[in-house]
Amino acid sequence: MKILRTRSELRSHREGLAPGVRLGLVPTMGALHEGHLSLVRQAALECDQVWATIFVNPLQFGANEDLSRYPRPFERDVALLESVDCDVLFAPEASEVYHPDSSTRVIESHVSQPLCGSVRPGHFEGVTTVVLKLLNLVQPSDAYFGQKDAQQCAVIERMVRDLDVPVRLHRGATIREASGLAMSSRNVYLSEDERRVAPRLAAALDAMVIAFQQGQTGGRELEQLGRQQLEATPFEVQYLEIRDTLTLERVEKARKGATVFAAAFLGRTRLIDNRQF
Ligand code: AMP
Repeated sequence: MKILRTRSELRSHREGLAPGVRLGLVPTMGALHEGHLSLVRQAALECDQVWATIFVNPLQFGANEDLSRYPRPFERDVALLESVDCDVLFAPEASEVYHPDSSTRVIESHVSQPLCGSVRPGHFEGVTTVVLKLLNLVQPSDAYFGQKDAQQCAVIERMVRDLDVPVRLHRGATIREASGLAMSSRNVYLSEDERRVAPRLAAALDAMVIAFQQGQTGGRELEQLGRQQLEATPFEVQYLEIRDTLTLERVEKARKGATVFAAAFLGRTRLIDNRQF
């Protein structure tokens, strides 16, 4: 696997590829797990070349968030990417990505508003700005994002549509531990006790899906059920809402294909998860 650190290395490597090559991009912040690797594997099946990026994007972290303590096990990440036959890793420093006087941002102003958008102001602006930059730098034919971050998928899909970005987007399924806990780089923050409780978030969403399958379609009733499931746990729910998967509009009556989105704190660690009905 070729490791590239600078924009100019990236440009010249990209120019060396045959025109029309099917190139799949998997953007990540590193601290890789099976969720990331599943996206690389999916890209490898569908593309001639797979390029991953590892960049802990300062622009998408709020002032009181975990930018400085975000895990950065670089050597381990490199070995994992090599094990799944990734062709290129682009792992730049922030100073390489953003010009010191960079003053342009990409703002999606609808899908990015509720949920994570309302509790993490500026987060999605950081995401759309870096993702568009990566798409412009790498010029992939395909890019892969995880359903684990369902709102992020919807925001990026909207940006790509609205700005006519020439890339095919793919959503990879959420990869979970045997307990049901969605894999996340932030799971390393959990204490042993918290790890035992953490699968209850996915279980609460599962209970909502089961109730829906048994005939309950009332959005508020289903949300209430999900919250009740978490009441007896140390989870502090930040949001738990049923919304349209693509437009993120609030859904009064649950329907097949709608999504329940949840964010909850377990101690200091914030976990997100979602399920589609
Ligand atoms: P991150 O490194 O957290 O920014 O994630 C990089 C990409 O991996 C994003 O598209 C995420 O949605 C995706 N991802 C993260 N966790 C999972 C998971 N458990 N299953 C599938 N994809 C995931």
